[in-house]
Amino acid sequence: MFELVQELCNINSGTYNLAGLEHVKRRLVEEFSILEGITNELEIEPQQKINDRGEAIEQPLGQLIHLTKHDDAALKIMLCIHMDTVYSADHPFQECKMLENGNLNGPGVADAKSGLVVMLAALRALERSPLAGNIGWEVIINPDEELGSPGSARFIKSRATHCDWGLLFEPAFSDGTLVSWRKGTGNFTFVIRGRAAHSGREFEKGRNAIVALSRLMNQIDQLNINSEVTLNVGRISGGGPLNIVPDLAIGRVNVRVKTLEQKSEIEAELTRLTDSANRADGISVEMSGGFTSPPKTLDERASALQSRIEQCAAVLGQKISWCGTGGASDGNKFAAAGLANIDTLGPQGGNIHSRQEYLILESLVPCAKRAALILLSFAAENNGK
Ligand SMILES: [Zn+2]
Repeated sequence: MFELVQELCNINSGTYNLAGLEHVKRRLVEEFSILEGITNELEIEPQQKINDRGEAIEQPLGQLIHLTKHDDAALKIMLCIHMDTVYSADHPFQECKMLENGNLNGPGVADAKSGLVVMLAALRALERSPLAGNIGWEVIINPDEELGSPGSARFIKSRATHCDWGLLFEPAFSDGTLVSWRKGTGNFTFVIRGRAAHSGREFEKGRNAIVALSRLMNQIDQLNINSEVTLNVGRISGGGPLNIVPDLAIGRVNVRVKTLEQKSEIEAELTRLTDSANRADGISVEMSGGFTSPPKTLDERASALQSRIEQCAAVLGQKISWCGTGGASDGNKFAAAGLANIDTLGPQGGNIHSRQEYLILESLVPCAKRAALILLSFAAENNGK
């Protein structure tokens, strides 16, 4: 497991590095072929983006791996994790190295390449057992999770309804805590157009898009009134030579909410602020984007799955604690499509999305055992039909 984690992490698979993703995909298809399932490699839709000139563009994404086995079984489990990382091909962080404390430092060691390896180990254990065939399973390995899965969201949604339970292999926290609920998240882009004019000769004819954007972003920032709902003005662009009144400015905002009501409220507020900014003389504002993941709440079925996982962990002498988080995952999308899931069944690690990302190597085997036991617990209760 250690060797495969290291090998996969040393291949860059930043979400826009299509050649790197293809390489990782090829290795995964080889490794997962031992399960003798039905493998499909699928194209996904491109990401729709607004560039810094305010134009809509399409960004191609990598391919997705979809594996199925024992598809005729009555009970079906979805297993999912992504193969992309946040580190681009030209990022300085490209290779694994051992740390003095025995942990492994490297790009994607925790998020989420060790999760891929754990998922494979658990499925191998299931398939070696006499109970194999009592349950069906499906694997989705997507190439775009770090962008919020813009290209694979539709496929995830369509497969969610074919399964009864979902197991996702995002990393657990460094102390082993798993995630119970997650906030929802969305990205909004505001393209503001004004009127260009010479700043010396005809300043009064200009309508300044940057000033209008600043006002709007400030109003959006003021919607931050509690820790449950957060709006982060994350990026702005616009303007050019200083002697021109700028006619284009773009603001990008990331939003997090805890409940569906908050999601609707924020959508309404952003629409209201956009409408009001649009009423300024000579200024037009266009809002695009939206929520990519609704909040994931702890409902009855998710609680039942939590209890099952706790029981399996107890057999191995592990005790599980749970917490909520502001970060979203594909677990949000599966939950929104009606599939109860637990999404942090990967090994323990920390400092993800940074050059200090690490994996606690000692957690690999216990984590794989636990995942195998969860699968076997379902298989023991079902007889295939
Ligand atoms: Zn991840």
